[in-house]
Amino acid sequence: MKLANRVATLTPSTTLAITAKAKALKAEGHDVIGLGAGEPDFNTPDYIIEAAVKSMRDGHTKYTPSGGLPALKTSIIKKFQDDQQLTYSPKEVMVASGAKHALYLLFQAILNPKDEVIIPTPYWVSYPEQVKLAEGTPVYVEGMESNNFKITKEQLEATITDKTKAFILNSPSNPTGSLYTEEELKELGEVCLKHDIIIVSDEIYEKLVYGDAKHISIAQLSDELKKQTIIINGVSKSHSMTGWRIGYAAGDAEIINCMTDLASHSTSNPTSMAQFGTIAAYDVNSDFVEKMRVAFEERLNVVYEQLIKIPGVTCVKPKGAFYLFPNVKEAVKLNGFDNVDDWVTKLLEVEKVALVPGSGFGAPDNVRLSYATSLDQIQEALTRVERFVKNNM
Ligand code: PLP
Repeated sequence: MKLANRVATLTPSTTLAITAKAKALKAEGHDVIGLGAGEPDFNTPDYIIEAAVKSMRDGHTKYTPSGGLPALKTSIIKKFQDDQQLTYSPKEVMVASGAKHALYLLFQAILNPKDEVIIPTPYWVSYPEQVKLAEGTPVYVEGMESNNFKITKEQLEATITDKTKAFILNSPSNPTGSLYTEEELKELGEVCLKHDIIIVSDEIYEKLVYGDAKHISIAQLSDELKKQTIIINGVSKSHSMTGWRIGYAAGDAEIINCMTDLASHSTSNPTSMAQFGTIAAYDVNSDFVEKMRVAFEERLNVVYEQLIKIPGVTCVKPKGAFYLFPNVKEAVKLNGFDNVDDWVTKLLEVEKVALVPGSGFGAPDNVRLSYATSLDQIQEALTRVERFVKNNM
């Protein structure tokens, strides 16, 4: 046996798998509309690109400190202070090669074999895999559709055992776009404090919230909760910088220090020029983030109305991120399929529309579609989905 036991149950990202399939069909000349993307369709703003290019011309093409450039930590610390009134010291912040990498390092740093990590469903695909790779055990709590995919304090309390080490909170959420209110966060926070459970607060979609919804970090609610929480964030979604691979973690200095040491032996440091680009992203005054947010909100409002008119489709209206997570159970039944995965595959074959099946997110009755693509494209895609459902009823 060539491979290690640790990777025996590793499943590739379903999101990337469907995107790859859609790209292959496109390469064959088919008119495919991919709604699988987990990234904004905007280009990174020029001022960020220029800052990165300048840094290279200035010779900043070498190793940097493993936990990130001091200047970038300063920018991140200022961002926390300005946006969330959270005060961190440089020792409490580390920069990684994307938020995904920061999460990976975090689980490696805090989990012993069989330590349990509570993950609300539907979840972002990488959480369970990363927990398992750190020899931890993912424990799922159902975010009920009837409660806008959010879990309650009673559910959280009932899931805790003496092995529970951490709880993952992702608000706004990928894939559902649900957002916890201050009151809900307070309740969940109290349970975590009572049982001394580390809160992993993934706030990567913080800037993308709609209507009168407001993002609040659980770490803002009290000093105790700040101490209990590791915040994960980054510029991938906020500044359309997915390919730059810059994310970061903030919280307990001992954990952050360990994550930095782990990075020093794996990636050495996040890419130098991408760090300079990120300094510009945070320090230069620009309306880019807000413009993108407004564009997403407009699309959401149009597309949501079109989506819920499709027979057999219901959808909780998201408050953030850039995904819709409709329940298609009835449509799948109407079309004579046993499961959503087969329905999605057929839809791609017949109508050339790529959606991501919810099974990969722990929600087998749903599909995820991203509206981080032009309004024309999403509207055309939904027209095709509606045709598919009606033609096969
Ligand atoms: N967390 C969530 C919930 C995400 O959806 C993603 C990206 O899809 C990430 C983290 C990772 O972002 P990054 O590009 O910074 O690694």
